[in-house]
Amino acid sequence: MPDSENIVYYNGALRPEREVGISIRDRGFIYGDAVFDATRTFNGQTFKLREHVARLYNSLRYLRIDPGIDPAELERRSLEVVNHNYPLLPPNQDLWVMQRISRGVESSEPDGEMCPTVLIETHAIPFARRAALYRDGIKVATPSVPRIPPRFLSPRAKTHNYLNLIMGELEVQDTDPDAWAVLLDEAGNLTEGRGSNIFLVKDGVIATPQGRFVLEGITRSVALDLAAGLNLPVAEKDLDLFDAYTADEAFLTSTSLCICPIAAVNGATVGDGQVPGPVTRQLMAAFSDLAGMDYVSQYLAHLPGEG
Ligand code: PMP
Repeated sequence: MPDSENIVYYNGALRPEREVGISIRDRGFIYGDAVFDATRTFNGQTFKLREHVARLYNSLRYLRIDPGIDPAELERRSLEVVNHNYPLLPPNQDLWVMQRISRGVESSEPDGEMCPTVLIETHAIPFARRAALYRDGIKVATPSVPRIPPRFLSPRAKTHNYLNLIMGELEVQDTDPDAWAVLLDEAGNLTEGRGSNIFLVKDGVIATPQGRFVLEGITRSVALDLAAGLNLPVAEKDLDLFDAYTADEAFLTSTSLCICPIAAVNGATVGDGQVPGPVTRQLMAAFSDLAGMDYVSQYLAHLPGEG
């Protein structure tokens, strides 16, 4: 295996990334009939990999896909890929670690069996593209496209079907290319963005939509745990645009963003405009302590003229 190029795990073996292609008849490509999960590294160390893999296996069970590999092996293989690829990165970078499993390749035989496609790959987190978010805050906008109701397709599974979230994102970016979409449900409650959960802070209480209506982000759970550890009250409840427009602070959570402040919702400045607000700042510091590195400085170092 060449040491100088990225590898992936593909259907049972480690291979150079450039040698691996997915079949044109793969159900993940044809129908979005696949699941995935994404972990990140901090200084090359994976964070909450076991939790991400556990969520992946719940997504697999929801789609009734038997991956033919157990969670411990998938975790072990993920670490092999990371340990090979991380040293190939330039300094002050970290990796996204993706596991993707599709139902497999459609067979032309009438009773041909499908074998799941199992891929583990890594790529660099786009620090430079996102660095300004930690200086200025994220602009969130809610599109007219509602989040698909959970009884149609559960948001709790992380599947390859992201079109609903992408349609919302396209709509808000037509108006503001820098805006991040957070979709409302049909009743007008906040749900989530294409890759993030939303939190509002009001009168010291940290609130986020209930786990039944969103992908329960691993970072969302970390943020709730950190808040509890800091004796800050938390609530999982319905939140609408009134709550967003009257919040003191707001932030998004995701594996790559960790905790990132929101500056405005639909053009309305959040709270007094301080980014991040005091509660968000406390949580961000606690997150860095837990991750074992100052993730905000890592992002800010990628601003033009820094680092
Ligand atoms: N919601 C959706 C739809 C997502 O894709 C993600 C990213 N995995 C999240 C929320 C945030 O989850 P996590 O904190 O595990 O990255």
